[in-house]
Amino acid sequence: MNAEIISVGTELLLGQVINTDTAIVARELSALGINLHFSSVVGDNPERLDESIRSALTRCELLILTGGLGPTQDDLTKETAARAAGKKLVLHEESLRRIENYFNEHTVSENQMKQAMLPEGCTVFQNNNGTAPGCAFSDDKGSTIIMLPGPPSELEPMLLDSVVPYLQKEQNAVIVSHNVHIFGKGEAVVSQIVKDLIDGGNPTVAPYAKEGECYLRVTAKATTPEEADLLCQPAIQTIRERLGDFVYADNAESLEELVVKELTRANRKIATAESCTGGLLAKRITDISGSSAVFEMGCVTYSNEVKEKLLGVPHELLAKYGAVSEQVAKAMAEGIVKTSGADIGIGITGIAGPDGGTAEKPVGLVYIALSDGKNTWVSRRNPIGRTKTREWHRHCSASQALDMVRRYLADLPVIVPDYKPLMP
Ligand code: ATP
Ligand code: MG
Repeated sequence: MNAEIISVGTELLLGQVINTDTAIVARELSALGINLHFSSVVGDNPERLDESIRSALTRCELLILTGGLGPTQDDLTKETAARAAGKKLVLHEESLRRIENYFNEHTVSENQMKQAMLPEGCTVFQNNNGTAPGCAFSDDKGSTIIMLPGPPSELEPMLLDSVVPYLQKEQNAVIVSHNVHIFGKGEAVVSQIVKDLIDGGNPTVAPYAKEGECYLRVTAKATTPEEADLLCQPAIQTIRERLGDFVYADNAESLEELVVKELTRANRKIATAESCTGGLLAKRITDISGSSAVFEMGCVTYSNEVKEKLLGVPHELLAKYGAVSEQVAKAMAEGIVKTSGADIGIGITGIAGPDGGTAEKPVGLVYIALSDGKNTWVSRRNPIGRTKTREWHRHCSASQALDMVRRYLADLPVIVPDYKPLMP
């Protein structure tokens, strides 16, 4: 099924309101395995709206309209869409009663009543968060038209509670998705490696980039969830074979969730000594419920003096190599293991920018060390090309540290060449 979205509202064209409705609908369509081919915005103008709807109906099987279902003069989506589909608007008694209830049975104005006028024979979607109901109906060529209220607080629950089940039934299919999470290889490289899968049909495989990581979403359509899941499995298997230990999870698990789970399983404790990440790694670990069993302590050691005093980083190392160096990261990781008594220590030092940095030590250069008291591994992040924000460097550095812990606990190589330079 191919779909199209038209968002209606002059406020969207004026830049006063950001079109979040389209993003919400697009996300759900994608999860349903419905291909979205076009999305557009049109103002509250009957002629242009009519033109948009008619041209959309020549090419899509599912048209979703958002906004303009309300009581006011400029709310003309229903009239226009019904006319384009050759349908009359008729009073929907139940919706009228709901609107009356909403207004505590005070006399409902004619304008309010207008909201209960719906295309004949449509499926009605109740609005539990406002007054204007949504609906679905067909035009004479069999295309489905769905209309949803504009306010996201009304649209989103209606979409999840009513429209998604409606579309699943329409498609006579259930959709099952798996997100295969990957760390250490960028979206472009991953896409090349699994190009044949991406070009395939059922399951569909689509790459997504997210905050320095990427994941492949494997989605299959079948008549039962079990069947759909079975269709996904060979693709997941192939992805795992080709990407090997770069795959860290094939469900919704985040790196920090995985690390806390694995530390718990291995009965190991971790401690962190952070400079440029300012405690972000400790925060991400302690965001996870149950982390108290595995997280010993975290230090934000910004100044050289504290690195010496608290972590025992030798003064000579700092003087000779500078705070942002492989040697200091190593000494920080080893120092925090000694100070805390934890099994694993992490040291992070780098330049998060946007100011500072030199040709030799540019913004984005970060050293990340993992020590277990016997051995220490140091990786480096040195993103090249596109300018990234301070937040980006900090986030990706913490992620890379988590990935090193994941690798260490799984007896995999702790350092992989792909860490540097990371991502396109
Ligand atoms: P109402 O009954 O509130 O009038 P409606 O279905 O007629 O609902 P609109 O009048 O088009 O919807 O929009 C009402 C409000 O909803 C807008 O002022 C805006 O704040 C929000 N809104 C509308 N469309 C969108 C959109 N595409 N993305 C995000 N917000 C939107
Ligand atoms: Mg309105």
